[in-house]
Amino acid sequence: MIGRTRSVVLTGVAGHVIEVEAHVASGLPSLTIVGLPDAALSEARDRVRAACGSTGLTWPARRVTVNLTPATLPKSGAGTDLALALAVLAAAGDVDASQVASAVHIGELGLDGRVRPVRGILPAVAAAVKSGVTRIVVPEANRAEAALIPGARVTGVRSLAHAARAYGCADVREDPAISQRRPVASAHPDAAMRPGADMADVRGQPEARAALEVAAAGGHHLFMVGPPGAGKTMLATRLPGILPDLSDRDAVDVTSVHSLAGTFDPDGGLMRRPPFEAPHHSASAAAIVGGGSAWARPGAISRAHGGVLFLDEAPEFATRVLQTLRQPLEHGEVVLHRALGASRYPARFQLVLAANPCPCGKYFGSGSECGCAPVARRRYFGRLSGPLLDRIDLQVEVRPVRRGFDEAGESSADVAARVAQARAVATSRLSEWGWSVNAQASGTWLRDHTPASATRDMMQALDQGLLTARGADRTLRVAWTLADLAGEPAPTAALVATAMALRTRVAA
Ligand SMILES: [Zn+2]
Repeated sequence: MIGRTRSVVLTGVAGHVIEVEAHVASGLPSLTIVGLPDAALSEARDRVRAACGSTGLTWPARRVTVNLTPATLPKSGAGTDLALALAVLAAAGDVDASQVASAVHIGELGLDGRVRPVRGILPAVAAAVKSGVTRIVVPEANRAEAALIPGARVTGVRSLAHAARAYGCADVREDPAISQRRPVASAHPDAAMRPGADMADVRGQPEARAALEVAAAGGHHLFMVGPPGAGKTMLATRLPGILPDLSDRDAVDVTSVHSLAGTFDPDGGLMRRPPFEAPHHSASAAAIVGGGSAWARPGAISRAHGGVLFLDEAPEFATRVLQTLRQPLEHGEVVLHRALGASRYPARFQLVLAANPCPCGKYFGSGSECGCAPVARRRYFGRLSGPLLDRIDLQVEVRPVRRGFDEAGESSADVAARVAQARAVATSRLSEWGWSVNAQASGTWLRDHTPASATRDMMQALDQGLLTARGADRTLRVAWTLADLAGEPAPTAALVATAMALRTRVAA
């Protein structure tokens, strides 16, 4: 007898539908799983047998072989337990084989027969629907999350007995503790889910507020330098609030990452707002980039996908950690190599760095209170490597708020409306080159499209060595964003001058 069903395994956020085929033959009682199972999957043998026992189902006292295909795909985790158990029960004739074969089953089994929730249900269900299977059986605690995928017909099960009964097996028992227990979702809300604070709370700071608006409108990475207490963190946390909603596709990608990370509350639906991640400077490379033993978990840079990655006290991060940002900044994704193969996670984020003006934090204004040696100040910023700073279009000083500048600022909603308008103009101009924001425009495009009349002073600065070629590109990118915000068809000389002022943080 042969029983078949399907399940989903994940590599990174990519889901792959696999066939689970169980074969029951005469011979000494045994259970063999073939098809590249990892350790957790091998332990499935024990979990599945124990779960069947607790449920009152008789495990076939014969030779059972389970084959997972395609064999070339590395399979990991416990999410295939339920499919494995049902394929065996179908082969043994205990449940309706054709019904079991028509659905995808995802879930981990507990020894008592309960079906435990798994991480990454959203990308798994998305993969199943994409492959053409819409009947999907998931752990009860994951049902709300699975149902967020359009086209999925989702059934939640709390136990193997619950599933077996639904497939026509009357002779099962369920531990009363399982049916009475209210399912607990594996996800928990984190910083990314916090409602955004409003720009109206930021008092004074007209230059920094303007820089934040330009960063949002052009998708520019931003570097803020200022003494402790000047409001850098307050500003950074308000960037997501002035960014537009995520597109449908981005919402699925962003939510998939958070589904895998376990930082997603399905009760709120798909994540539609840009996330915000602010790892501490003591965080390890694995925490920032992603990590794990056999298979990696998404790190802060992937949880920031579609949103903002804020590194406060950026020079305090380990050099190795800062170096790892180069790949995602370049490619918008991170590839993690692990024992079982490479997994890819999306990591296209807007980077906001903040730093004190010097190690003691007092080098501003006249700088008379700062006790740092000039060499210490240089070394402090030297930790932010050239290749990293090369990708940052905006570098601004944030000064302590002066007395009298305590009037409330504009609200996030008002700023967001201007940002959305400017982004729409930029997207319509850049889409034929495959870009959506000015930060993506190439140096060649910028030089070909910016009116020569607007760049005369900048070219002079370039000739005099006051500006590098890369610095000139960054200036033009910002100038186009300023033009979009001002409703100008192209940068003017005045806007290019403003752009130069927005990136001339005096390097220590
Ligand atoms: Zn100092």
